Amino acid sequence: MKNGILALIFLTFFTLSAQSDDRPNFVVIFCDDLGYGDIGSFGHPIIQTPNIDRMAVEGQKWTQFYVADPVCTPSRAGLLTGRYPIRNGMTSSKRHVFFPDSPNGLPLEEITIAEVLKTRSYATAAIGKWHLGHLPKFLPQQQGFDYYFGIPYSNDMDSDQWGKYLKEAEDPDYFSKTEFFNVPLIENSQVIERPADQTTITKRYTQKAVQFIEQNKEQPFFLYLAHSMPHIPLFVSEEFRGRSKASLYVDVIEEIDWSVGEVLKTLEKNQLDQNTIVVFTSDNGPWLLFKTHGGSAGPLRAGKGTTFEGGQRVPTVFWGPGKVTPGVINQMGATLDLLPTFANLSGAQLPSDRKLDGYDLSQVLTKKAKSPRKDFYYWAFAELHGYRNEQYKIHIKQREVIHYGRETIVLERPELYDLKADISEKHDLADNFPEILSDLMGTMDLHLKDVADAIPDQLADRMPKD
Ligand code: MG
Repeated sequence: MKNGILALIFLTFFTLSAQSDDRPNFVVIFCDDLGYGDIGSFGHPIIQTPNIDRMAVEGQKWTQFYVADPVCTPSRAGLLTGRYPIRNGMTSSKRHVFFPDSPNGLPLEEITIAEVLKTRSYATAAIGKWHLGHLPKFLPQQQGFDYYFGIPYSNDMDSDQWGKYLKEAEDPDYFSKTEFFNVPLIENSQVIERPADQTTITKRYTQKAVQFIEQNKEQPFFLYLAHSMPHIPLFVSEEFRGRSKASLYVDVIEEIDWSVGEVLKTLEKNQLDQNTIVVFTSDNGPWLLFKTHGGSAGPLRAGKGTTFEGGQRVPTVFWGPGKVTPGVINQMGATLDLLPTFANLSGAQLPSDRKLDGYDLSQVLTKKAKSPRKDFYYWAFAELHGYRNEQYKIHIKQREVIHYGRETIVLERPELYDLKADISEKHDLADNFPEILSDLMGTMDLHLKDVADAIPDQLADRMPKD
């Protein structure tokens, strides 16, 4: 009997200590407006991305991975909270994202990945673009991050050069000046530089990321590295300018790839690679309006600001030689799934007082099990535009490639695409499959009822002008 109790104590002790030793580190590298087709391993014939390609070969390349929304602010809210942005007031039909005159932010009662991982004593840092409220009361340190360094909103904001940039982008050689965009660079909650020198921004984000990993190598950590690039205006450091001999956009992506390499190298040098999962992805599709300064969605239709595949399906790889079973995953996943996946892998509890929209992908990552995600709702500008299951996608609303002043089109009749046969959404099959159409419509109606208790629109308000 006594031996039994001792064995129990022994077992309990070792189970607990094994658990606490097993908390993996997480790194999320989140690009801004990088298209599905902008990476070598996703088919780009010119852009050289050896580090991201290596992640894809040694880890998992996901071909059907989605973002919660086709524009910046809502997409980021979806990733960090595991909830469709309609639920937390982070999508709006009035203003698409937060602006420098926005008084609001991600509501503080929302629970982010950083806050979930804090319950397991993770060190946490947000480096790069935040775009979930730039006032001190909404910055990352109020949402579970120990440290913040970055431009708090889009790098084209606070400028009267925007229209000029749009025009000049027709010229592939156009190179903007960092002074044209009066965006602040913030460390924790202090503005340390304004205008931020954007030519060195990718490099400086990378240095801070490497430093954070080095400083926290003895404890589990979560690093959210959200690049400001390749959102326009495009900037690269001197070392990368012209290096690709292709275009400025290509130089910018190749600098981001260099940055990925620095992160991987730092993990390997510190023997953290066996216990770290790195995710590389983008916040929405390419901003096609900017011509040669925008990217490519590859075979997908349209881009940023639309709920076609080009707006929301993003190039995604998971790397972690000690955790992730290599392979190509031709099943669905979403940034919404990161919160439940990281919670499970770290041993953290999921919030139980609210509705979450993410699935736990840990069995897919570690064992190549089937993905639990079987469907996806396409939300944009606080409206439900579409829905897909494993084969078919229905559209009830659409938007052209983002164009300011252009309204959402409510379709006179829904369109239906077979995403297995027609990745480019070219052939509307609505007339051929009326039963499938009505099934998908029914599921959309149920979802609309399920989000009826959403937090009101937080994006629409403006601060009064002085
Ligand atoms: Mg974006």
